Amino acid sequence: MSGFAAVDVITAKRDRGELSGEQIDWVIGAYTRGEVAEEQMSALLMAILLNGMTGAEIAHWTTAMINSGIRMDLSRVGRPTVDKHSTGGVGDKISLPLAPLVAACGAAVPQLSGRGLGHTGGTLDKMESIAGWRATMSPAEMIAQLSSVGAVICAASADLAPADRKLYALRDVTGTVESIPMIAASIMSKKIAEGTASLVLDVKVGSGAFMKDAGRAAELARTMVELGARAGVRTSALLTDMSTPLGRAVGNAVEVAESVEVLAGGGPTDVVELTVALAREMVALAGLDADPAAVLASGRAMDSWRAMVAAQGGDPDAALPTPRYTEQVAADEAGVIQRVDALAVGVAAWRLGAGRERREHDVQAAAGILCLVTPGDTVTVGQPLFELHTDTADRFPAALADLAGAVVVGRPGAVVQRPPLVMDVIRQG
Ligand code: URA
Repeated sequence: MSGFAAVDVITAKRDRGELSGEQIDWVIGAYTRGEVAEEQMSALLMAILLNGMTGAEIAHWTTAMINSGIRMDLSRVGRPTVDKHSTGGVGDKISLPLAPLVAACGAAVPQLSGRGLGHTGGTLDKMESIAGWRATMSPAEMIAQLSSVGAVICAASADLAPADRKLYALRDVTGTVESIPMIAASIMSKKIAEGTASLVLDVKVGSGAFMKDAGRAAELARTMVELGARAGVRTSALLTDMSTPLGRAVGNAVEVAESVEVLAGGGPTDVVELTVALAREMVALAGLDADPAAVLASGRAMDSWRAMVAAQGGDPDAALPTPRYTEQVAADEAGVIQRVDALAVGVAAWRLGAGRERREHDVQAAAGILCLVTPGDTVTVGQPLFELHTDTADRFPAALADLAGAVVVGRPGAVVQRPPLVMDVIRQG
């Protein structure tokens, strides 16, 4: 490939030009090999954040990121492949019940997942609270498990879209994470490289989400659905509410316990509703004729969960870790709960040890929060609102400070307006 001068690519985007496919291939390839300096890529990322990209540029950028690494071939799995990706939220444990549910409907779900950083938890951190469970699998092991069990939750290999790994770390420290073209390319490059035939995106909206605003969330969803279409991956997106934590549990082991409740036919209604809504969309894209609500009620999703956990060395019957210390937060006024702020709860759970401050830190499996109330509930003075869990008691004061304004209580009898959980669905045209 012919070379370019990095400064010419930067000035083209600074001056609102459209980058050519060759320029994009060159800059991503050269940056991944360490031949474009970090300060030059930082300047280009800022120019992209400020001036945006055309659909063709985003598609080319995504392809160049895919081509920086391996592309998995799931054609030997023997079942239709369909995955789900969430943009991240507080209490978002949906992958745990969803993957085995969709497997029990007849599909194969290759959930390559990440670890948590900041206030949204990571699926691998949650699964690792199950004794013996391991996140690392070779591609051959993954394909074998997809064929037999139908679901895998494991860590993405470092060879999958390595350009994204490097670019994401740079975006994180240069104030350029929020660019919609960069978020869309980052997510879709990994999902397309993973080799799934279909994909459902759960784009979260609200205080606990990456996208606080429904308009920007819809733009991100449309951009990703379009990228999927261009790459031949059947893709839909659900826009879902993340102003309130999902379910009652926020953390690691507590979220596994809540997921198992859902698989056993119970669990909070919002977790069940979203699991079934996403499963319906996945089953439809996979071309299967199954009713996820009936499959969940039959207990077959629980069978798939147990098989999936055991296949990765986990003991589905092992007791989950419990915290050394707990503390409760009580209501200091009576009335109707208007709001439980997802961001405040997510940050508080992170401070208790459920999340990590730096990539190299460990998480506490038993740390987290149980939300004992939800908007619309009536509370009395002294009624517990939250139960905090941690193994390190000196973390309580900071978490309690985060939760100070998290719950808004309205006058007794007040009506509460809640957005619908599934706010919109965006499908390929
Ligand atoms: N998740 C990703 O994988 N990439 C982003 O850029 C943002 C969220």
